[in-house]
Amino acid sequence: MKKNIIIILVLFTLGFSLSEKRMVEITFNELTELQQLVDMGIDLDHHRTRSEVHAFVSDEEFLLISQMNFGIREIPNEAKLYFEELKQNTMESRNPMEDYHNYIELTAFLQDIADNYPEITRLESIGQSVQGRELWVIEISDNPGVNEIEPEFKYVANMHGDETVGRELSLYLIEWLVEGYGSDPRATDIINNTDVFIMPTMNPDGFESGSRYNANGTDLNRDFPDQFSDPNNTTIGREPETRAVMDWTWDHHFVLSANMHTGALVANYPYDGPNSGVYSACPDDDLFIHISLAYADAHPNMESGGFSNGITNGAQWYAISGGMQDWNYIWEGDFDITIEQNEVKWPSSNQLAGLWEDHREPMLVYLEEVHDGVRGIVIDADSGEPLSANISVQGIDHDILPDPENGDYYRLLSAGTYTITAQAFGYLAQSETVTVPLSGYVEQNFEL
Ligand SMILES: [Zn+2]
Repeated sequence: MKKNIIIILVLFTLGFSLSEKRMVEITFNELTELQQLVDMGIDLDHHRTRSEVHAFVSDEEFLLISQMNFGIREIPNEAKLYFEELKQNTMESRNPMEDYHNYIELTAFLQDIADNYPEITRLESIGQSVQGRELWVIEISDNPGVNEIEPEFKYVANMHGDETVGRELSLYLIEWLVEGYGSDPRATDIINNTDVFIMPTMNPDGFESGSRYNANGTDLNRDFPDQFSDPNNTTIGREPETRAVMDWTWDHHFVLSANMHTGALVANYPYDGPNSGVYSACPDDDLFIHISLAYADAHPNMESGGFSNGITNGAQWYAISGGMQDWNYIWEGDFDITIEQNEVKWPSSNQLAGLWEDHREPMLVYLEEVHDGVRGIVIDADSGEPLSANISVQGIDHDILPDPENGDYYRLLSAGTYTITAQAFGYLAQSETVTVPLSGYVEQNFEL
């Protein structure tokens, strides 16, 4: 008898852990009630209105929520359904640039670019997914592989495997940049003056199985260090995809970045926590609003996505813990936002060309924001060697560091007059007043 109970218990537990989470719609009365779901660790999806939110829940969570003061019902997972439909298509009938690239096609596409444009591209794998797929990153620069005195920028897409638009837009952007180099002044300018990194998919396993999660069932946008719940900035205990992105980020000195999602149409900026429905301003709130608006304003109809001006503070929308954007900003000095590019997560492939039309200008304008603010070089006045100085802005409690190799720093700021201080251990601090123009940067070097 006892043995039977144990077997039943084991099967019961297995059933919960093995069954895939279901997509549900949860209705509520007050935005702040969402916090109860966040505290329970419910995986909220991007779709939310004033009275309902989409989420992924286990059977157990479904039961718990239905016993609380929420409405809950299962809804069809459209992305998954479309994925199943796509899988029915044969490879031969697909036109790669009109259709989604699977892992093999994506790899071939990137290798082709790297082969055809060796002077301005460098393809590298920054690690492997749980199932052993390469995590590709392509660098586009006039001197790829060289740490120049230029700001580094990154786009990361498809960290949720079933949010696929950014994955394809990454390929469009890569192609647009390399094909325009030397002929299109804007593409040429970007490549000559920026070190651009593009990661079309952070979750190749999720894409191949039509799932939000990686192959271990983890939501990668909940797997990063978190200022409130997990403040250890280490890779210990994290998923391979997360570890790869963290290590890669540590190898570079990214100034600005964005990660691309679908499920809504909005530019979402830090902080992402701690309380759902409550605005959580970071020290650079003004700047984040400015760069988020830069994206939203350049899009033909982002303001129609149900958010004021097409942008939102992360926590005010819904709080998450372990998101990538807060980690980039808090620990890496890299200004990062989360761009929701389409309300339908996995739209029909015949919409991709139109989506590129809509998002090309926003993606370029956002990338070019990396050149706004104050920048310069910090060196030792005697030796001329680069210094690891702290760069602070009076009134903004968020310091940044120069690139340790060249001593170049990039402090993104919106237009205005600021007092900038460079401070290094064993040196006299130096302060300067600078005026950042409406567009572009002001240069301020420091010799300490
Ligand atoms: Zn997402």
